[in-house]
Amino acid sequence: MKTSILLRASLISASLALCVTAHAADRANLVIIFADDLGYGDLGCYGSPTIRTPHLDRMAAEGLRFTDFYSAAEVCTPSRAAILTGRYPIRSGMCGNRRVLFPNSAGGLPPSEITIAEALKPHGYATAHIGKWHLGIHPGGRPLDQGFEHSFGLPYSNDMDARPGLPRGASGSPDPPHDGWNVPLLRDGQVVEQPADQTTLTRRYTEYAKQFIRENKAGPFFLYFAHTFPHVPLFASTAFKGQSRAGIYGDAVEELDWSVGQILDTLTKEGLAQRTLVFFTSDNGPWLIMGNQGGSAGLLRDGKGSTWEGGMREPGIAWMPSRIRPGVTAELAHAMDLLPTALALAGAPAPDRVTLDGTDLGPLLFEGRPLPQRPFFYYRGDQLFAARLGQWKAHFKTQTGYGQPKAEVHEPPLLFHLGRDPSEKRDVAGDHPKVIAEIQEAVKIHQAGVVPGEPQLK
Ligand code: MG
Repeated sequence: MKTSILLRASLISASLALCVTAHAADRANLVIIFADDLGYGDLGCYGSPTIRTPHLDRMAAEGLRFTDFYSAAEVCTPSRAAILTGRYPIRSGMCGNRRVLFPNSAGGLPPSEITIAEALKPHGYATAHIGKWHLGIHPGGRPLDQGFEHSFGLPYSNDMDARPGLPRGASGSPDPPHDGWNVPLLRDGQVVEQPADQTTLTRRYTEYAKQFIRENKAGPFFLYFAHTFPHVPLFASTAFKGQSRAGIYGDAVEELDWSVGQILDTLTKEGLAQRTLVFFTSDNGPWLIMGNQGGSAGLLRDGKGSTWEGGMREPGIAWMPSRIRPGVTAELAHAMDLLPTALALAGAPAPDRVTLDGTDLGPLLFEGRPLPQRPFFYYRGDQLFAARLGQWKAHFKTQTGYGQPKAEVHEPPLLFHLGRDPSEKRDVAGDHPKVIAEIQEAVKIHQAGVVPGEPQLK
């Protein structure tokens, strides 16, 4: 009798364990691949005539390519805070006059913020961060404090921590000195190399990513792969250096494209392609003041640092063969949609008492259903500069990314129709006072719901 009860109990627990395992394996994996300072016009599938990106082009051909995908900020730190938390950076305090975190900054992503990794971990997800972090180096704000079980990469931008005596402008050089920056390479919070050998970073990140995928193929897993490049100083491994028609910038992007191909191939080989959503995008637009070492926003106006389209509209490609119907979409979507999308993939509830700014992209990706029409807000630091509603965009203030000391205030705001005038050349505010009033109303509603977080970029 006792044996049979024990046997039954063990059978029940075995079937429960099977249930949990099967359920966990059903949950889709998520891989976010995040480029740094890559422009809207820098990929073949977004019209670059010179940079070869066959793997990203294939990803786009097999997946859904967005024409109107936005980063949540015009520079690095706030953009990263937003993609991981699903919130405008004003809410977390990860934006401000200093624009990004520096090695001497005291702030970081507050522990109270819930990242995608923290949201997925309780649902059985293995989590890893690879590449650039730039969300804080102090306790509470580091990758392992923010839900990542594994971390391999740089704590901030690759042009920070310059060696004393480094000539001005070295970071934007076509052949930057290998030992010019003392930036460390960290594994799980420990320095493993300093200065990091930047020529082999993309290759080493990629190997680490492939290993993480293979080791966690039983799933589910979340991989946040935030490339160091094509942020200046630009480096490429010997296999890619000097190979592109677009100089070292093109070499770095072509190596990044190779890396994407490696990830997609690994997922396919391991039989994970149909249950892994891979999303590719960039943190902000091209750093135009770097000249040939900065990218291109294509036909969009301005670049990194500005709230013109070139600063925040990014390549956005979703891939999950046999689940996503291949195509191109003009739906407006943004980086803050990835957290709600991740929650839906995991069957996880939204975090309690947290205001999220995105929406689940699942219905669009998997069923081709349009997204709800919603406004999008363009912040520079903690200031709202512009807003988009449908095809209309109003600028309340404008300031070029770098080199214009003060913002120009527009009263009435400038108004552009992004469908007819994607380059924002023809202000039509005078003809559409009703549209401006509608956008102003959307801004009012948004601002009434924003409680600014304690500023972190001091
Ligand atoms: Mg950046």
